[in-house]
Amino acid sequence: MTHDPVPPAAAARGGSHEQEQFLAILSREEAVSRFEAALFPRREETVLRPLASALGAALAEDVVAPVDVPPFDRANVDGFAVRSADLAGAGESVPATLTLNGETIACGTQPLLPVRPGTATPIATGGPVPRGADAIVMVEHTQPGEAAELIEIRRAASPGQFVSHAGSDIARGEVLLRAGTLIGSRETGMLAACGISTVPGVRRPRVAILSTGDELVPPGEALRPAAIYDVNGAIVAAAVAENGGEPNFLGAFPDDETTLETAMRDALASHDMLILSGGTSKGAGDVSHRIVPRLGSPGILAHGVALKPGKPLCLAVCDGKPVVILPGFPTSAMFTFHDMIAPVLRRMAGLPPRLDHTVEASVPVRIASELGRTEFVMTSLVEGAEGLVAYPTGKGSGAITSFAQADGFLRIEALADHLPAGSRARVTLFTPTLRVPDLVLIGSHCVGLDRIAAPLVRRGMLVRTLAVGSLGGLAAARRGECDLAPIHLLDEASGTYNAPFLTPGLELVRGWRRMQGIVHRPGDQRFEGRSAEEAVTAALADPDCLMVNRNQGAGTRILIDRLLGGARPDGYFNQPKSHNAVAAAVAQGRADWGVAIAPVATAAGLDFIPLTEEHYDFALVTARRERPGVAAFLEALASPEAARALEDAGFAKA
Ligand code: AMP
Ligand code: MG
Repeated sequence: MTHDPVPPAAAARGGSHEQEQFLAILSREEAVSRFEAALFPRREETVLRPLASALGAALAEDVVAPVDVPPFDRANVDGFAVRSADLAGAGESVPATLTLNGETIACGTQPLLPVRPGTATPIATGGPVPRGADAIVMVEHTQPGEAAELIEIRRAASPGQFVSHAGSDIARGEVLLRAGTLIGSRETGMLAACGISTVPGVRRPRVAILSTGDELVPPGEALRPAAIYDVNGAIVAAAVAENGGEPNFLGAFPDDETTLETAMRDALASHDMLILSGGTSKGAGDVSHRIVPRLGSPGILAHGVALKPGKPLCLAVCDGKPVVILPGFPTSAMFTFHDMIAPVLRRMAGLPPRLDHTVEASVPVRIASELGRTEFVMTSLVEGAEGLVAYPTGKGSGAITSFAQADGFLRIEALADHLPAGSRARVTLFTPTLRVPDLVLIGSHCVGLDRIAAPLVRRGMLVRTLAVGSLGGLAAARRGECDLAPIHLLDEASGTYNAPFLTPGLELVRGWRRMQGIVHRPGDQRFEGRSAEEAVTAALADPDCLMVNRNQGAGTRILIDRLLGGARPDGYFNQPKSHNAVAAAVAQGRADWGVAIAPVATAAGLDFIPLTEEHYDFALVTARRERPGVAAFLEALASPEAARALEDAGFAKA
């Protein structure tokens, strides 16, 4: 797209001036109120659904019971239908003797003989009570009489005993279920009891979903260089279904205005709502928001909302249908969907607002926040010494794992620029119930951890690992927020790992050793066949040789600085935070060498020159040693299976 014509719809309303005002950032509340005002009130269509497929739908109308339930007076126990007056004087020493009528009433049997005074009729649970009878006596409370057709009863019966009268459960004409009720399994049962086979439900809104971006590849296909998998397509479709819509994912489209406009027009014609993701920023190649004003009026209502994540959100209504462009980053897309789109979709589907479950927790670290934007921070909850503690899991709005690790989110209001450490916060849960983990590890992450935790997870334990670095882990352990802190800290003075960093209340549990080394692409003559010192000398001698460093504070960084001996070669300031990032940079040719651990190098197809072994151990909170999760972890760590699994993964058990 090289030019930016004034869209016809905007021109009709008075040109680009009016269009401009939509580009201003709105508060979350203002954006919501404009969006809702353009959509509601509206008439939703009703459809009749077979009972079997009504689950999850909202009733469009009140349902009135067409019959009585039960339809007749029904016996509640196995026994005898009697006249209670016949048993008025009966007792332990004065049995009443009744003569049996010549029929037995099973379920589904219509009685033919009346129960006259002095008689009784055998009846099964669920059988219709015969004419004349007003009570049932349990079979356990009777004895055979002197002749075969006689029974003895040694207790009185109150009128109506063990009888469910017609209509006592549901009375004909009564409102059985009110409009708006969500059909669950219990509601299905009530409808079936009344013989209702079709349910008037609000028609599920048909929602077309499109992902946009030249870089997107559908899951299942191979990634080409510089491409990423389409995450939003799957995530938005699932969230639409969760909120009463009928999702129709149309695929990932390139950022081409003509193709996209055709796809959007077609989608809008056959659906009730259109949700796109990506292309909403005003960057080059972002085209979807330019198309929206041409699709119908009033067009764009909000483009830019004071939310974090989610600022580029675009909300529009085109001829009565909502058209939404979610931000491209999956976490931003999800937050804006749940916060602003789901309520509208639920209303269109006739569903009640979602019930949010919240818990209170303290926040262990300071969380910075942008002034002027309502900020959502995903948090992971663990049990601290004084109640729940909420750790931010966010790695920025581009990170998808922060969702999987999080239990919920907290909100920092637009007027605050941070949340101080130690504050209390209300966390909105992603699921209705919170499951507190059986084992919590906070500190430095290592893929070996997953191998040790695997048997615990198979046994149904919930294991949570939070990667906050070794020092962050030690701080959490001292505050009693985790069971174990995985650490790999070199004490320069003593040359030993980890033990010198323990404080009272913490004890060292030996983990494993990880070989660190120089990684390079196979066949690179500057490195192949050389020792580490020779390799670094060769790298420093070649001005075209580009390194990739590590972040300040990482154990690996200390090693790199020692190797370089004060040199600052090209690439020194490229300082990613993980072994995987170093390996990816070298494998993809964005750098020629770096330092990483052996298993990561192997997985990336790189060659490896060993440098030194790093000790990866655990600071155990002594007070938590007896917890079942901790005991299970220590046992797993000590097992021969763990040693084998670690070895397979390229580690050496300590
Ligand atoms: P955009 O809003 O198109 O500028 O995209 C912002 C970021 O989100 C870019 O890094 C995109 O690659 C990424 N992104 C956009 N759409 C998707 C998607 N469907 N799945 C995963 N990432 C996406
Ligand atoms: Mg894009």
